[in-house]
Amino acid sequence: MTIPPGAIGATLPASRERGRPLRSIAEDLTRYTYFRGRVALSAILRALGVASGDEVLLQAFTCVAVPEGIISVGAIPVYVDVSPGTPNMDPDDLRLKITARTKAIVVQHSYGLPADIRELIRIADEMAVPVIEDCAHTIASRVDGRLVGSFGRAAFYSYEAAKPVFAGIGGSAVINDRELEMKVEGDYAHFAEPPLLAQLETSAMVVAYHVAYRPSTYWTVRALFRALSGAGLIRGNYNKVELSLMPASDFRRRMGRMQVRRLSRALRDIEMQTRHRADVALQYRSSIRTAYLQHLPVRDGVEPIFGRYPMLAANKTELVEKARRAKVEIAVFYDTPVQPLSGESLRGVGYKPGSCPRAERIAASVISLPTGMQVGTRQIRRTVEFLNALA
Ligand SMILES: *Cc1c(COP(=O)(O)O)cnc(C)c1O
Repeated sequence: MTIPPGAIGATLPASRERGRPLRSIAEDLTRYTYFRGRVALSAILRALGVASGDEVLLQAFTCVAVPEGIISVGAIPVYVDVSPGTPNMDPDDLRLKITARTKAIVVQHSYGLPADIRELIRIADEMAVPVIEDCAHTIASRVDGRLVGSFGRAAFYSYEAAKPVFAGIGGSAVINDRELEMKVEGDYAHFAEPPLLAQLETSAMVVAYHVAYRPSTYWTVRALFRALSGAGLIRGNYNKVELSLMPASDFRRRMGRMQVRRLSRALRDIEMQTRHRADVALQYRSSIRTAYLQHLPVRDGVEPIFGRYPMLAANKTELVEKARRAKVEIAVFYDTPVQPLSGESLRGVGYKPGSCPRAERIAASVISLPTGMQVGTRQIRRTVEFLNALA
């Protein structure tokens, strides 16, 4: 463990004074809302003029939603490895992969741990390539006091169950460039809302989830959710794991107004939720001490707000099995370089197995702990005791 406990908390008060107040982000996040995060990415790429045959760089150790958004405009996803021992894009590998064919770069702030965004943008600028920030895992993390999502030309967010704000299904685009925003705005008129019935179904799912989910019921709810989506009764996070992933018509949908309303409501106390997440992460960071698990390094000037708190496990398979039996919430994603694809099916989204070895290595050892409002003091103590007892 290389980071002194308290490193995160020590930087927190400053984050609330410097830069932009978090509350003001609600307005940005409800301006251009889309059916899903990947649809927001697709809309941004189209506005940037990315088209058939262009290359878009993204990191390996991601979710299939990202290459799917890239493929939806006819572009080719090209994978960049992560930095050693981190879940974020490696600047050195980016330098190797960027070419004259590169038309955009998606930079992911995995788990809410900010990528080395300034360095990545410096490299992109040399080639005049726009950067899009993937903020699916965090709304509130900061770098040098500035919110992530404000560094690139644009950013996108996601609101499904595993994300910091759960509004059922949906995503937003935030555009940091006036000219690009005019294009996004013009295109937005072509997006239709999902049918009312689908919106009602989504709302019902959110309510059911809030009733059923607590960290102690995590494994049961997860199994139930999978069974229901497997039977086609509800929409899962992942569609059929084939090449034709989501129907093209869904890439022309915006977020349902019922979901947008839920999003607005959830964002009203984003500052309180953020303080809670920071506090839970700080407790994990200062009290989990076992050779079995390793905390991730946090660079200077970086203030992560973890959507989930990631750690590296000595034996992931064994740990997950024990957690399931003990009913302790431990998430396993990402298990593969492009979740949930594995083996040869990775080639369907342009990933060549073995091509990003560090991403594959971290997928084999990373686990994550919940930081949301449902996580209380007792839950934290139980989780910490369970983990510290591992030998
Ligand atoms: C969830 C997620 C997305 C977007 O997911 P949607 O299902 O399209 O809303 C994008 N990037 C990452 C890293 C994600 O985890």
